[in-house]
Amino acid sequence: MRKPIIAGNWKMNKTHEEAVSFIEEIKGHVPSGNEVETVVCAPALFLKEMNDKAAGSDVHIGAQTMHFEESGAFTGEISPAALKDLGITYSIIGHSERREMFNETDESVNQKVHAAFSYGITPIMCCGESLEQRENNETEKVVRAQVAKGFEGISAEKASDVVVAYEPIWAIGTGKSSSAEDADETCGTVRKVLAELYDQDTAEKVRIQYGGSVKPENIDGYMEKEHIDGALVGGASLKPDAFLKLVEAGA
Ligand code: PEP
Repeated sequence: MRKPIIAGNWKMNKTHEEAVSFIEEIKGHVPSGNEVETVVCAPALFLKEMNDKAAGSDVHIGAQTMHFEESGAFTGEISPAALKDLGITYSIIGHSERREMFNETDESVNQKVHAAFSYGITPIMCCGESLEQRENNETEKVVRAQVAKGFEGISAEKASDVVVAYEPIWAIGTGKSSSAEDADETCGTVRKVLAELYDQDTAEKVRIQYGGSVKPENIDGYMEKEHIDGALVGGASLKPDAFLKLVEAGA
């Protein structure tokens, strides 16, 4: 039985005060960590205080990206060692916005997945096709390649701890969500690829989220599906009441 995981991705939103009060507002209301894993991925500047505020609750704080090197001449980057030092145990890796605007590639995603494990960080590894790729019927090919490269060199034991977020790019922040059937089909493809790379048992353990305009009104349709184990949520994760509804739907 896979434990559902609902993760918010705030992107470059909120002030420090808003970030901290969000955690204060939700932390006493999230369902138990036995039912659902709740993660809020926030701008790096707010992580420490959010994590302090979330201490002892069932809310986990995550980063939105990290570098694969521990330290060095990487101006502006976020070190996985620094995240570990702050007690941060999740990071989104390879979000399509990072791939599109910050030149992240399947190769750097793979390096980051390796680095995440070195620092005790659970990677939430994103994959997903563009609108053009979807219209050219390339979804399966694209997602297969992203997953195969992302998991390269990762042992079966570690692989089962990776969270994969399938996020069709055309559905992110657009209000155009994928149908639950289509999302489940591609999440099923991700699981099939994992079974080919490892074995069925490992593939069955990996949690796969759907992401792309998920909101309280449509999350149930996704959560009912066989291969969907949660959601990575942008816009609807910014308001405490909406985020709590999403987490409750995941439980
Ligand atoms: C995201 O940022 O990963 C995302 C899915 O955004 P939204 O929910 O706003 O589409």
